[in-house]
Amino acid sequence: MEIIDGNQIAATIIAELKAEVSMIAGRKPCIALVRVGEDPASVSYVRKKEKTAEEIGVTSRIILPPITISQAELFTILDDLNRDPTVDGILVQSPLPKHIDEVAVFRRVAPEKDVDGFNTISLGKVAQEDPSGFVACTPAGIMELLARSGVDLKGKHVVVLGRSLIVGKPIALLALQKKAGANATVTVCHSATTNLSAITRQADVLVAAIGRAEFVTADMVKPGVVVVDVGINRVPDASKKAGYRLTGDVNFSQVAPLCAKITPVPGGVGPMTVAMLMQNTVKAFRQKAAP
Ligand code: NDP
Repeated sequence: MEIIDGNQIAATIIAELKAEVSMIAGRKPCIALVRVGEDPASVSYVRKKEKTAEEIGVTSRIILPPITISQAELFTILDDLNRDPTVDGILVQSPLPKHIDEVAVFRRVAPEKDVDGFNTISLGKVAQEDPSGFVACTPAGIMELLARSGVDLKGKHVVVLGRSLIVGKPIALLALQKKAGANATVTVCHSATTNLSAITRQADVLVAAIGRAEFVTADMVKPGVVVVDVGINRVPDASKKAGYRLTGDVNFSQVAPLCAKITPVPGGVGPMTVAMLMQNTVKAFRQKAAP
């Protein structure tokens, strides 16, 4: 059994991007990070993105509207960033406050700056296999993790648990693409799926993205499976300083011994998300610079 080290693979990608950005003469790629309010998880995610950008040499512009901002005011900020020629990528940190329509905000970001990959054009380009589009960072990170761990999906049965727009659906589309590294046979499961275990036991590669702590147990997988655990769940744990521990959607201690390869939580998919955001930002810069 091999544990796929997401921290190490992300560090390699970040080093590659740093080398690439150092070769850019003149203005460097720039990402605008928009964080509404002071949600503690969002504060820490945006800080991590800012730090990684700095490490690579990508300029970041941080915009911190108050939680009371209206949707119209947020649209004005996005319209300004969309027009600004010195901004290459725009990320609006989710979750947004309840009075703002998150999907409408994602749609407002100009497609050519949509480094988060959540707007309609970006998702459509994934379906159309158009390489000019931006793939959402978590599914892009999963494909990169698999590729760099020597997992070729061709002809494999990939079972995806979860059908969200940010993970489940795009990873299913990516695994299905007719291109090197993909070409899988894909099954997508969700809360209305019946006989779930019978399906997951057929998986050569199982991607768990449902947000339920340690949901996937030993009886749900076949020996030799590759497991990608996307879940990030906080389980109360008085022995931890924070009062909780992080766990994935997979019962790691039960499932790992059966696997050919498995991603841990933390240290698997998570670190890849920020690396992919930076890769998308450099791509947005390059596509803008191209004639
Ligand atoms: P969502 O809540 O948006 O979607 C969950 C999906 O799982 C839904 O499709 C839901 O089905 C399905 N589901 C829920 N319960 C079951 C069940 N018992 N059996 C089968 N399917 C079920 O979650 P996200 O996709 O946003 O996130 C999933 C997990 O991944 C979370 O833990 C999240 O924190 C984590 N995550 C991690 C990231 C990273 O960087 N590592 C990035 C993004 C997310 P239905 O559609 O029927 O409701």
